[in-house]
Amino acid sequence: MSISQLARSIVDSPTLRLNEEARLLRERGLPVIHLGIGEPKNKAPINAILSAANKLNSGDVKYTPTDGTPALKKAIIKYTEDNYNRIVAPENVIVTNGAKQSLFNVIYCLVDPQDEVIILAPYWVSYPEMVKMVYGMPIVVTPKDGTFYPRMEDILEAVSSYTKAIIVNTPNNPSGMVFPPEFIGALVEFCESKGIYLIMDDIYHRLVFDGTKAVPGYQFTQKDIESTKVIVTNGVSKIYGMTGFRIGWVIANRRLVEVMTNVQAQMTSNPATILQSAAEGALNGVQSYAESLRLTIENNRNVIMQELRSFNGIRVPEPQGTFYCLPDFRAYQDNSVVLADFLLKKALVVAVPGIEFGIEGHLRLSFSGTVKDITEGIARMKWALDPESPREIYIGDRKMIRDWL
Ligand code: PLP
Repeated sequence: MSISQLARSIVDSPTLRLNEEARLLRERGLPVIHLGIGEPKNKAPINAILSAANKLNSGDVKYTPTDGTPALKKAIIKYTEDNYNRIVAPENVIVTNGAKQSLFNVIYCLVDPQDEVIILAPYWVSYPEMVKMVYGMPIVVTPKDGTFYPRMEDILEAVSSYTKAIIVNTPNNPSGMVFPPEFIGALVEFCESKGIYLIMDDIYHRLVFDGTKAVPGYQFTQKDIESTKVIVTNGVSKIYGMTGFRIGWVIANRRLVEVMTNVQAQMTSNPATILQSAAEGALNGVQSYAESLRLTIENNRNVIMQELRSFNGIRVPEPQGTFYCLPDFRAYQDNSVVLADFLLKKALVVAVPGIEFGIEGHLRLSFSGTVKDITEGIARMKWALDPESPREIYIGDRKMIRDWL
């Protein structure tokens, strides 16, 4: 079979692959604990459900404008004003099939072959693949001081005349770090002065803990929405726990939104009509729902940190947002793929290898699940990695036996 070179060069999504592996093991009756996926256990907000149900009951479910329904765009404009203190026009907004399509569409519309896009490690797995999918060059910048905080000096070293855009994700998947305002300010100023696009992936922006705030890039520019280089992508997946609804959006200048709309029109048409109604319900409905989800996740963060602090040899910076942490497991194993495989086989715990995020020797653990899964999952990992632990042990009400698989 003759598959294109480009398609062959794109790797699969490790998190979705692990999901599938976990599902198959569960189907075999094995008690897998999934600390791999970033997906809260909550039910969708009631306003989202009612709004989608109303639309469905009306029976009037047709195409919408490619860039989203006027009602959802209105809700996004209000959200942008409330959360970013920016007034934007409907022409500055495009609704997409999840934030994933938002990011792909932005990259597709900005990047020419050989253009470089700077990606800050540790990074979300899809960024480099998306850049490669448009024949661009992902340029990964890793903080040289060994922290998870990107540094301007490292970025400046990587910038070249081919640099088209920089992607920033704060709060960060996979590290859970919230980047300091001074860094965002310096980056915005640099990008505005050099004409480099700054793509801010804000999908976790309200999922922050201990009173931390993820400051919007807009705060550091005097330029209006038509001339700023700051582009924002966001969506309902994480903040409202609506991963399956697949609604995201982009805020950008009119010309870029117009071009993205043309691209989307040729690829997917509008995002599903009923799901747009659901997103509208979530954005316009009571926001205490998102707050209670945030509090649950913050409590989970406290639980996982407590468990990890008593894990011999593990080092882990405390996440200030998202539902991930990225502990350093090099005391046990340098190769994160080998380690993740070992933990799946010996302890039936799914964790994502750090190498997938550009950081070897670490594992990404998600605390978006239940407290029980978190405590039992970490207990199993401790048991599996301790050479002196007994061959059989009860963790929770489950008898664990080495060499499950
Ligand atoms: N950006 C980051 C950093 C993510 O972690 C994710 C999802 O995991 C996305 C974007 C995509 O979000 P969506 O599910 O809305 O496509």
